[in-house]
Amino acid sequence: MSDTTPDPRPQPSEAPPRDRLGRQPRDLRISVTDRCNFRCTYCMPAEIFGRDYAFLPRSQILTYEEIVRLAAIFVRLGVEKLRITGGEPTVRRDLPDLVRPLAAIEGVRDLTLTTNGSALRTLAAPLAGAGLRRITVSLDSLDDAVFRAMSGADMPLARVLDGIVAAREAGLAPVKINMVVKRGSNEASIVPMARWARDAGLILRYIEYMDVGTTNGWRMDDVVPWAEIVALVDAAFPLEALPPNYPGEVATRFRYRDGAGEIGVIASVTAPFCGACTRARLSAEGELFTCLFAARGTDLRAPLRAGADDAELEARIRAVWGARDDRYSDVRSAGTANLPRVEMFAIGG
Ligand code: SAM
Ligand code: SF4
Ligand code: SF4
Repeated sequence: MSDTTPDPRPQPSEAPPRDRLGRQPRDLRISVTDRCNFRCTYCMPAEIFGRDYAFLPRSQILTYEEIVRLAAIFVRLGVEKLRITGGEPTVRRDLPDLVRPLAAIEGVRDLTLTTNGSALRTLAAPLAGAGLRRITVSLDSLDDAVFRAMSGADMPLARVLDGIVAAREAGLAPVKINMVVKRGSNEASIVPMARWARDAGLILRYIEYMDVGTTNGWRMDDVVPWAEIVALVDAAFPLEALPPNYPGEVATRFRYRDGAGEIGVIASVTAPFCGACTRARLSAEGELFTCLFAARGTDLRAPLRAGADDAELEARIRAVWGARDDRYSDVRSAGTANLPRVEMFAIGG
């Protein structure tokens, strides 16, 4: 190629991309597997995800090298926060071998993982040793029967609680707890969970039950609105509102008036926050999703495996982000309930 011939390949440019609503990509959620050892009723109901359910074959799942390469491109585009998720990320082998290179990407300010906590007794220390800083554990109740009914877990609650202890012993801090609240299932656990988390110094975040995927039979009646959750906690342990940690924070935060820590509520149904949504999601098979409620993603695995260079992959991601106009939760209505969309375990929470 002569000096005067322009390079036909897409050239990376400096400015971070903005979507049609002016939002930049800041967070990347990386699903490392679509498999899980739990069967939470709101995510992978056991009746549908039974023994013969066809999960992705290994050849279709991104390798750790492929994930790291894509993550580094997202970081160049302005992403600062990486979250490893799934499915259940700890069912994928050698997870610390993914954490190590992700932690080493220059520009990553925050690297965390969301897990059901079942494997933390053995994995917390190796994950911390590989560079994981903090962790989120999902837990919906401290009542063993409610825990088992909601999670479909074939193990006692004590194992998750011990996993949380192991995470703290390994120095993962803060440990956050995600509790999905579902009407008729675990409302009675709202206050006991607050008491436990306060006493243990854990940050509890209540999550409104969402209409993700198409298999959980979601109904608005099953959502416990955030205001109701906060009123219950406030009556037991008085609260006051806190300002966001950073613009676009999805959890609305409250502090206990007695200084015993804070809680958050993620009110994606009754108080949506699409205007500040800076999240991109990479599925286990390498599809880029620009919304939790999207029906379809954009395949990054095919170009990656066909030998595309970083500039080409970056151009593809820029194009997808530039066309993004997602604001599902803002426009949620009776009419949107039956639209096709990806399952949450496929792209992570
Ligand atoms: N398996 C890991 C776990 O459970 O933490 C990571 C993946 S899971 C899909 C990520 C988060 O999504 C969890 O905190 C889970 O409780 C939440 N989640 C799943 N389905 C949900 C739903 N229908 N509504 C609200 N949150 C949901
Ligand atoms: Fe598994 Fe997490 Fe979904 Fe529960 S929420 S079924 S633990 S992926
Ligand atoms: Fe972001 Fe989509 Fe959720 Fe809105 S509905 S906050 S655009 S993921």
